[in-house]
Amino acid sequence: MKTAKKTEIKKVRVRFAPSPTGPLHVGGSRTALFNYLFAKKNKGKFILRIEDTDTQRSEQKWTDEIIEELKWLGVQWDEGPDISGDFEPYKQSQRLDIYEKYLKQLLKDKKAYYCFCTEEELESVRQEQMSRGLAPKYNGKCTHLSEVIVSKNLSENKSSVIRFKIENKKIKFNDLIRGEVEFDANLLGDVVIAKNLKAPLYHFAVVVDDFLMQISHVIRGEEHLSNTPRQILIQEALDFYQPTYAHLPLMLNTDRSKLSKRQGDVALADYHKQGYLPEALVNFMVLLGWNPGTEKELFSLAHLVKEFSIEKVQKAGAIFNIQRLDYLNGLYIREKSIDKLTELCVPFLKEAGLLVQGQISQGKLQEIIEISRTRMKKLSEISGLSDFFFANKLTFSKDLLKWQKMSDQEIKDSLNFSKDILSNVKKWSLKELEQKLLEGCEKFNKEKNYPEKNKGYLLWPLRSALSGKQQSPSPFEIADILGREKTIKRIDEAVKMLL
Ligand code: GLU
Repeated sequence: MKTAKKTEIKKVRVRFAPSPTGPLHVGGSRTALFNYLFAKKNKGKFILRIEDTDTQRSEQKWTDEIIEELKWLGVQWDEGPDISGDFEPYKQSQRLDIYEKYLKQLLKDKKAYYCFCTEEELESVRQEQMSRGLAPKYNGKCTHLSEVIVSKNLSENKSSVIRFKIENKKIKFNDLIRGEVEFDANLLGDVVIAKNLKAPLYHFAVVVDDFLMQISHVIRGEEHLSNTPRQILIQEALDFYQPTYAHLPLMLNTDRSKLSKRQGDVALADYHKQGYLPEALVNFMVLLGWNPGTEKELFSLAHLVKEFSIEKVQKAGAIFNIQRLDYLNGLYIREKSIDKLTELCVPFLKEAGLLVQGQISQGKLQEIIEISRTRMKKLSEISGLSDFFFANKLTFSKDLLKWQKMSDQEIKDSLNFSKDILSNVKKWSLKELEQKLLEGCEKFNKEKNYPEKNKGYLLWPLRSALSGKQQSPSPFEIADILGREKTIKRIDEAVKMLL
């Protein structure tokens, strides 16, 4: 195997090379993250290359989304389509002349050839091979066409592709994660590397670009492992060095099936929209395959740059456990300063129609967010957790007001008892409200002959009257934020429900 030129690549240069044919998936984001960390750790460069040779399926909007979402995640490249670099352009559709030159070289060296087989012919060969229990592969019909025939066919515009001649041999390479990997090239069949000189396909363009962009390490998902032998053979045919490979483990659902849209969101943008924080996603994704070997579970990007090592990436599939992401996201939400958290929640409150400009002071808004934050697993939950603060009138079933076996009359008495206390509270502050209402619990229970220690008789009807919810912060906290007038109004409205 030719590795002679390998030593020429002394600097670490890695790339993330997405095809803009759909949204950026969490799998792809993890690949980008691991490349970024590897580059930073080794003081190398991280390159973003857009692989848009599939003109039918590639769209600019997906390139834009990839760039936007990776930036949001904080995974920043040193060279890419939106910033210049020594190896530009970084979009394959802008590099067609470069590929053409190498395609011509392979054709000239007879390492690639034009193939004129029709879809029907190829299909019937496939069927025939399968009926004999063989794995389908190209039967080599056009491998040895004479130059005269090829020229004639081309001049007649006969539809064709360019195939690369696969050499029959064993291909071995050392993968940083999987160890030594061996493939039998005999099973592969000559691979189509271009539709024509101006239309290269993935296997070919990726090899040319990794070489020209001086990529030292190819770190990518396991689904590309089986592509590697073909790409190594193309490298050898062009006398290119072989980069070092590292194939990241698959991401699996909790039932160990391959992560797919059917079982939940796979697009990074969906997680972004739901209010997952980039810090939490980075932390979550890095642990999908990488094991720091310690109990530590919280890692910032800056921290990871120091601690990450590709040798500690596991071979086995990594389970994508959404509960873990929720847990981490909750931790990061709790760590945010109240200013920052408010800024992050505002778009969600606006989207839910809860924030009408000028209706609420910044201070009140921060109080609402502060008491909701411990219950929040993602930012989008802020509206469901706090909508009752913004509402003019609550709608809920009167059953919600009931504590244990209390009758409507008893609930009414309880609410009026609270109303009386609250109307007479001198200083409307959390401390005062809590103290007065707790004292009230004792008095009320005694008066009514309820169990002495059971605070629910007074506090449950009040809390549910103020929130209209099964679960919410305490009535003291809610009343403190609502203010006296709104609190009393909500008690009155609840009492009316019981009439
Ligand atoms: N463009 C390929 C993809 O999006 C990645 C190629 C590679 O990393 O080698 O799957």
